[in-house]
Amino acid sequence: MLTELKVVDKINFGDGVSRYDLRQEGANHFHHHLVCIECGAVDEIQEDLLGEVEKIVERRWHFKVKDHRLTFHGICHRCLEKHANQGKEDKESEAESSLQ
Ligand SMILES: [Zn+2]
Ligand SMILES: [Zn+2]
Repeated sequence: MLTELKVVDKINFGDGVSRYDLRQEGANHFHHHLVCIECGAVDEIQEDLLGEVEKIVERRWHFKVKDHRLTFHGICHRCLEKHANQGKEDKESEAESSLQ
């Protein structure tokens, strides 16, 4: 578990650095990230989903938002599929053992 956390931290750190570089070159809003806590994969969401949230922050906290970062931590579709398949296998082997 410790090594898994380290992997995620390393990816986040590397990503933060490259994002900072991109912003300096005048790039637009950087995409959002989905970080899998199981395999460490980082998927990207190109679509910006936070326009409304920025407006709320600007209104409520009188803070001019220039950019934001959004990272979702969870389990990616590949790991979910893996779990689903494992679940099936478990059920099948359970059924087999109960027959014996
Ligand atoms: Zn995964
Ligand atoms: Zn965004």
